[in-house]
Amino acid sequence: MSSKDYRIKKIEIIPIKIELNDPFVISAGAISHAMNTVVIIHTSGGVYGTGECSRYRSIYAETQTGLVDAGKLIGQSLIGKDVTALRSCIRLMDKTFAGYSSIKSAFDMALYDINAKLCGVPLYRFLGGDRDKEMHTDMTISLLNKKAMVKKAREYAKQGFPALKIKLGDRPAEKDIERIAAIRKAVGDKMPLRVDANQGWNYYEATKALNGLAEYGVEHCEAPIPAQNFIDLRKLNAESPIPIMGDESVYNHHDAYRMLVEDCMMQINIKLGKSGGICHAMKIAAIAQAAGVYCQVGCFSETRLAITALAHFTMAWDNIVYFDMDSPLMQTIDPVKGGLKYSKDWQVTVTDKPGHGAEFDSRFLKKFEGVVIK
Ligand SMILES: [Mg+2]
Repeated sequence: MSSKDYRIKKIEIIPIKIELNDPFVISAGAISHAMNTVVIIHTSGGVYGTGECSRYRSIYAETQTGLVDAGKLIGQSLIGKDVTALRSCIRLMDKTFAGYSSIKSAFDMALYDINAKLCGVPLYRFLGGDRDKEMHTDMTISLLNKKAMVKKAREYAKQGFPALKIKLGDRPAEKDIERIAAIRKAVGDKMPLRVDANQGWNYYEATKALNGLAEYGVEHCEAPIPAQNFIDLRKLNAESPIPIMGDESVYNHHDAYRMLVEDCMMQINIKLGKSGGICHAMKIAAIAQAAGVYCQVGCFSETRLAITALAHFTMAWDNIVYFDMDSPLMQTIDPVKGGLKYSKDWQVTVTDKPGHGAEFDSRFLKKFEGVVIK
């Protein structure tokens, strides 16, 4: 191949919609469908890469239509560029648009897919990772009434999930404490429980909730209070008997640096959709590693495609020790060929095919109207 073959020739952007098994409910609202956006980047030499992102209005402040529009402009700026100049492509995306981290993550994922394919290696190898990392996904329980949440907890424990992530953030905090007390009683003492308030409490409610939850052996609490309130977050982090994990308050490496220097959290939840993709997520993981901070990888409503890319990224980092890779399990269909597999005990493994090894079933994509940039 000559350098001419590495030029970006064509980009497809396709908004897709997949119904969820049950509505997914968090303190910031409910969703019934995954409204995702697929990006396929083609090079002159015929190698292509695929990426995907998920919009979540109440967290990202992004709509699917807005993501496609932003994607068109990003795509136009990338046409003709050398795909192997990966960092230049990422810089160009960041220059084209502030924000819009999720559509950037779909482009970034496709660019990494192509580059690993060009090197003939699986993406985890391209990122310096190894197969020695064991990843088992947790399963998330929506914020519902206590009885419904206990029922789900029993069901998932029976299905062998190694940990449960429980959505909280209701007021008054006593109701959340009752939920966890009942779930703990239902699943026994050994099941690791993690909670996520999605910014639903204020400092006062969070203090009550975290102190009340401590006796039930909760591993960590994500996003207890509004993301921007890092002054109270710092107080809470100092006082909480349960480690605080930053999620909505850490989008990118700049946030990670500030939040760790300001002692606002003990752990970070990394999502490719927040960071703008693998390139910036590597920087978050590195800052956390330097600070001795453990991380989780998380998802919104991505299919197995984006979660496959996430798994490859995770394999490159020792300090990522919590795995929330359950979004494909909540969907009524699986439109992805190849890619990660879930084993019976919910271990996540990827293939050794070059790139991330996943792509969308073309018959599925044909159902949706996309745009093509040349
Ligand atoms: Mg979260």
